[in-house]
Formats: sequence, C-alpha cells, structure tokens
Amino acid sequence: MTEISVGGARIRLVQGDITRVPVDVIVNAANSELIGGGGVDGAIHRAGGPEIMLELNRIRPKHGCPTGGAVITGAGSLPARFVVHAVGPVWRGGGFQEALDLEAAYQKSLELAAGSGAATVSFPSISTGAYGYPAARAAGVALAAVAGFLKARGGTIREVVFVLFDEGTFKAYEKALSAIEPG
Ligand code: ADP
Repeated sequence: MTEISVGGARIRLVQGDITRVPVDVIVNAANSELIGGGGVDGAIHRAGGPEIMLELNRIRPKHGCPTGGAVITGAGSLPARFVVHAVGPVWRGGGFQEALDLEAAYQKSLELAAGSGAATVSFPSISTGAYGYPAARAAGVALAAVAGFLKARGGTIREVVFVLFDEGTFKAYEKALSAIEPG
C-alpha cells in the first residue's frame, strides 16, 4: 500500500530524493545543533544553498534545538516555501523514550507546517540513518503520528508525502502503512 486517506487528507509514500519533490514544506532530519550534517540534511543544504544555514545561524536557540523539537526556515533554492528542521532521537535500544521523541518530532513539524499554511508537506524517514532507529519501528511511529495529527487537527494540510531514499526503507513504510486505519 502506498497511499491512504485520513482526516480529509492523504498520506502517500514514494521512493526518491526529497530535494526533488515539490511541496510547500520539506521536513529535514537535522541534529540538535542545527549545523550541517550528512545524509538528508547534507542533501537539503546542498540543494537549497547557503541561505538556509545563514537563517539557522540567526535563529538557532542558545542550547540548540531539543530532541523532538523543530524550527522553520525559508527553503532557499529548493522546490518548496519552507524547510522544517526536526530533531529526531538517536536510537539507544528503545528504552530511552525514543518512540515518544520521534512522535514529538513529527507532531512539532506538522504544527509548524500547518502554521505556515502549507497544503503539502514532505518527510524523510527521520532518525533511521545515522541515528540508527530501526526502520520498521520508526515507520510505525511516523505513520501513526502523522495519521493522528491529520485526524485531529490537520488544518490546511491536504497531503503528507514520505520520500524514502532506499528500497528497504520504502518497503518498511509500505508495510507499516497497511496497519494505519483510514478515515
Ligand atoms: P538521521 O540522523 O535522522 O538518522 P539521516 O539523514 O542519516 O538522518 O537518515 C535519515 C533517512 O534519510 C535515511 O533513510 C537516509 O537514507 C535518508 N536520506 C538520505 N538522503 C536523502 C534524500 N536526499 N532524500 C530522502 N531521504 C534521504
């Protein structure tokens, strides 16, 4: 399954590069210092240009952005209006509130996106790269968080697209999507 309807909106899965998919808001998997990293963060800063980091330098909270938090900036030359920089948890075996922190990162990102008036929002698979969160578990948390938000208070959001870089991650999200109740 690669698509469902929830709360009058749509959740869709695609495999690809998130910097190439036009949306209103692209969510980035950032680190708490909000400084350039590798993975999807590196790709977003490369494609978006230096403007995004300059803006982050102006707004960066003194002690960084906490795990489960997020900040919003312009999107530079990306095909989007804004980028939300979300901080997912580092996987430490599952006993350290990782699922709650991951859920919070998705919720905060959607609040910021809805606050910007976005109709379309894209997410990568937050925390499942360098941060080591097992993809199958992260997929369940991510999709439940997004579906819950859309059902309760989706606001302007009409579509959330997960842009999954590799086939294994895409398949994990496909499997997890079949466990989400449409409606
Ligand atoms: P984290 O530190 O939160 O784990 P990573 O960037 O290391 O973040 O990985 C998160 C996910 O993003 C991984 O599945 C990785 O393969 C994927 N990814 C890397 N580059 C891109 C891209 N250009 N578009 C979409 N996803 C990407």
